Amino acid sequence: MVDILNSFDSIKIVLYRETDLKHSTAKIIIDKSRERNKEIINFFDEEDLSKKINVLKKSYRSKEVLILKEFMGRKFQKCPGSPKVICCNYYLLNTCFNCIFNCTYCFLNSYLNSFGIVQFINLDDLADIIKSFCNEEDRILRVGTGEFTDSLMFDEVTSIAVDLIEATSKVKRLFLEFKTKSSKIDHLKDVKSKGNAILAWSLNTQRNIDLYEEGTSNIYERIDACAKAQSWGYYTALHFDPIIKYDNFIDEYFQVIELMAEKLIPSKIVWISLGCFRYSPGFKDIIKNVFIDEKLTLEEMFRGIDGKYRYITPERAEIYKRIKEKIQIYFPDVFIYLCMEDSDMWYRVFGKDYKISNDLENDLSSHLLKNFMK
Ligand code: SF4
Repeated sequence: MVDILNSFDSIKIVLYRETDLKHSTAKIIIDKSRERNKEIINFFDEEDLSKKINVLKKSYRSKEVLILKEFMGRKFQKCPGSPKVICCNYYLLNTCFNCIFNCTYCFLNSYLNSFGIVQFINLDDLADIIKSFCNEEDRILRVGTGEFTDSLMFDEVTSIAVDLIEATSKVKRLFLEFKTKSSKIDHLKDVKSKGNAILAWSLNTQRNIDLYEEGTSNIYERIDACAKAQSWGYYTALHFDPIIKYDNFIDEYFQVIELMAEKLIPSKIVWISLGCFRYSPGFKDIIKNVFIDEKLTLEEMFRGIDGKYRYITPERAEIYKRIKEKIQIYFPDVFIYLCMEDSDMWYRVFGKDYKISNDLENDLSSHLLKNFMK
């Protein structure tokens, strides 16, 4: 039986460049890898790295190999969103590429030729980058690290979130979100200055977690972790994304919402997002090759204005309405938004006449200003 990959302990090999130990993130990871008896391999340059990867490919799975590298691209950018849909104008920090978890629907599966989890290590300037951007803007900024990875999958080792939260905690207009499917958050308990940091969980029914989110924490662990985060003084957020249909799925999503109601404090939830399963053209063929028995793409899906495939519009509207109404029974004051849906869908579900992404951003910012600014 093949081991499930689910944490830093699942990593078997760590590749690094000796000269990169000048970066604190690299040094911490190498020290912890030594303590945990991982095989550590030194590389000299890109050519040497690619030779070593070619050898490792024969014996290891991609996610068993951690590659420490400097990142030369843009570390901070606006979320590209999707053309012609209403976006929330979120900002992204690139800290890592790839993920220890193995979600069937993950768009990272499209990067077929990439091997290993690439942890960026030149991150010491991240807090300054965010701070100087916030100084130039006079609006509320929502920033997250979970675009190309899971924000907290290794954080008990790397401490990237800990450092960022502390270093930016005085920036009043910043809401820094760490979105995860992990429940390993105990290292975040004693962060002294938490500012407006948000610990956020993607939620799904346990059936969808079992089928499509290999290696992740179960729904009870995620909601318990969220309750712990609230008790430590963090803001929290929740994301029902992707919502995936099956017989009886609505009832099981309702059970998740009831569990949230039992365990969570509504006033500490800054937002809840909803997004139905969607994929880009070509993705279906890719995941059919990677997950031979997957059932996810058997459902009939329709191409939308941004080129992505989704469940048909009236059906999505009905799903969103029912889940939103159920959430509002227990969390009437929490801001709920749709991820990557168009104006028409916003009107159908919320009766809101959003024409452009700034309309959503403005509403969300007013909500944060009124309820959460410290
Ligand atoms: S947790 Fe997120 S980044 Fe990781 S595999 Fe799942 S969808 Fe992808």
